[in-house]
Amino acid sequence: MKLILLGAPGAGKGTQAKRLEEAYGIVQLSTGDMLRAEVASGSDLGKELKAVMEAGNLVTDELIISMISSRVDQDDCAKGYILDGFPRTTAQAEALDSMLEEKGQKLDSVIEMEVDEEVLVGRITGRYTCAKCGQGYHDEFQKPAKEGVCDKCGATEFTRRADDNEETVRSRLVAYREQTAPIASHYDAKGMLKKVDGMADIDEVTSQLKAILG
Ligand code: AMP
Repeated sequence: MKLILLGAPGAGKGTQAKRLEEAYGIVQLSTGDMLRAEVASGSDLGKELKAVMEAGNLVTDELIISMISSRVDQDDCAKGYILDGFPRTTAQAEALDSMLEEKGQKLDSVIEMEVDEEVLVGRITGRYTCAKCGQGYHDEFQKPAKEGVCDKCGATEFTRRADDNEETVRSRLVAYREQTAPIASHYDAKGMLKKVDGMADIDEVTSQLKAILG
């Protein structure tokens, strides 16, 4: 199964992708996670990426496309994958079409998670993750049962993304509105676009996604 999760930053793509990974035995391919790993490596490329990401801008299409193209060839993608954060521009959507054709692959679904823009800033600026297992939390909406201790693995260290501050979030939302939102019509024109209500609670969104995916 191969699918794209579309939606603004904070729409819940990452959260749902993790649940779908477990439910369907497919892998989440988050371009944001791949870029953050490069930044963490401290490489020269990582230093360049860090500046672009902290400004809330998009990195170049060429880099992203080659990153994804080699990633989907890896063995763990054989059963399928969830594209999370890619494609993000019309050029990336077109490059993905050609890439899939060359590899003889087909997308099963493109699902947009719709969320009102006013709630996104609050969702993003309050979020953090367990440094050990990556479980996501939120200052208001999803606290661990015991303060300071991860529900899933018991670790006590948590991290926040450098670009989850209000100023960067506002730029990321502008980039989304101007460069990413238009790609929904690319898939709508092919009759592939489906939508779920990303304002619903986390379990309800998972149910809506599973109803589409079967
Ligand atoms: P995300 O984790 O998806 O919110 O991505 C974090 C940041 O990584 C974005 O604000 C961009 O700077 C960069 N990024 C992630 N995916 C892409 C992409 N497909 N194209 C361009 N930039 C990206």
